[in-house]
Amino acid sequence: MITREREDYLKTIYKLQQEESPVRTNSIARLLNVEPASVTGIVKRLAQLGYLEHQPYRGVVLTQSGERVALEVIRNHRLIELFLIDSLGYSWDEVHDEAERLEHAVSHQFIERIEIALGNPVIDPHGSPIPTEDGKIAPRTGTRLSELSAGSSGIVSRVSDDDPGLLRYLSSLGIHPGASLDVIEVAPFGGPIQIELGGNLHALGPQAAAEVYVELAS
Ligand SMILES: [Zn+2]
Repeated sequence: MITREREDYLKTIYKLQQEESPVRTNSIARLLNVEPASVTGIVKRLAQLGYLEHQPYRGVVLTQSGERVALEVIRNHRLIELFLIDSLGYSWDEVHDEAERLEHAVSHQFIERIEIALGNPVIDPHGSPIPTEDGKIAPRTGTRLSELSAGSSGIVSRVSDDDPGLLRYLSSLGIHPGASLDVIEVAPFGGPIQIELGGNLHALGPQAAAEVYVELAS
């Protein structure tokens, strides 16, 4: 039986691995909002249990069994979020914190029932792919809006799910998976990025734009 804390570590390392590998202890500490010293102890234990490999001075990489646990927790999380919205009437910005708790508590059977009840969905409400029961996940696609240049256009493929305030803000601008947008102007030196969406112009700060992923029109 794996504890909630260990599941959260494996999930966090999996997410960080999409950006850096090996994953540095400091990155884990920052994302989990804990001291680097406490990460070291838990990482050591997870390595002993065979969930990850610890490369001294470089960081950690999940083993196959560590990745399996991470994907199962992510699968639970994303199906629960969709269930809360589709079946219980939650709004977009309300589901993440509930899913953070429930993802550790639900049984395989419960999640499978949700999956069937929802018609075997493949993406969650924020546009992220839902891992399958046997631990497969579609590759993430899209480029951060903050990295696009003026003149590019595309469709929002996903947004970060963990900041309710940001989600309410994006929602107020009409930014959600499936929305199409054009980049009109990008201010230099980290200034705002101007987009057109649904006939309206919006200036988005770089911090918000970095949390929105866009599938570029070819
Ligand atoms: Zn979430």
